Amino acid sequence: MNIILLGPPGAGKGTQARMLTEKRGLVQLSTGDMLRAAVAAGTPVGKAADAVMKSGGLVGDDIVIGVISERLDQPDVKQGVIFDGFPRTLAQADALEKLLADKGISLDHVVEMSVDDEVVTARIAGRYTCAKCGEGYHDESKQPNVPGVCDKCGGTEFKRRADDNAHAVRTRLMAYYRETSPLIGYYYAKGRLASVDGLADIDEVERQISAVLG
Ligand code: AMP
Repeated sequence: MNIILLGPPGAGKGTQARMLTEKRGLVQLSTGDMLRAAVAAGTPVGKAADAVMKSGGLVGDDIVIGVISERLDQPDVKQGVIFDGFPRTLAQADALEKLLADKGISLDHVVEMSVDDEVVTARIAGRYTCAKCGEGYHDESKQPNVPGVCDKCGGTEFKRRADDNAHAVRTRLMAYYRETSPLIGYYYAKGRLASVDGLADIDEVERQISAVLG
């Protein structure tokens, strides 16, 4: 099964994608994670993406489509994938249709996680992750059981994203409304769209997504 999770930054796409990875064996394809890895490795893609990512703007379609196209050639995608943070523009959505058709991959569900700006801004402002395993935490809603120690892997280093600051978050939300929200209509018109309440707690959102996926 191959699905797209659609929603603004802070909607919980990454959290739900990780849960689907654990429960259903799907592979999470997060273009944000791939681009951050490229920046950290100093590759040409990373160098091209670095400044625009820090500002909260969108990386160019050609770059992102290239990254996804290459990733879809890896054998593990046969397990089924969750597109997390891709596509983000109509041009990317069109390119994805073509890529999937060329590679003989189906798209089974597009799940929109609806939230509101105030909530996503608060969620993003406090979030951080374990530097070792990527488990997500939040200053207000989810601290590790033992302060400074990751519940999952025992790691003691944590990190915050460079673009989780107030200015970049505003730019990211604007980019979402301008460039990405038209995809809701795009997939609705194709009869593929389902919506879940991204404001509900994590387990309830998971239940709603499960009901869609069947
Ligand atoms: P994310 O981790 O999905 O919030 O993405 C972090 C940043 O990476 C975004 O703010 C963009 O700068 C860039 N990015 C990730 N995915 C895309 C995409 N599909 N198209 C353009 N830029 C992207």
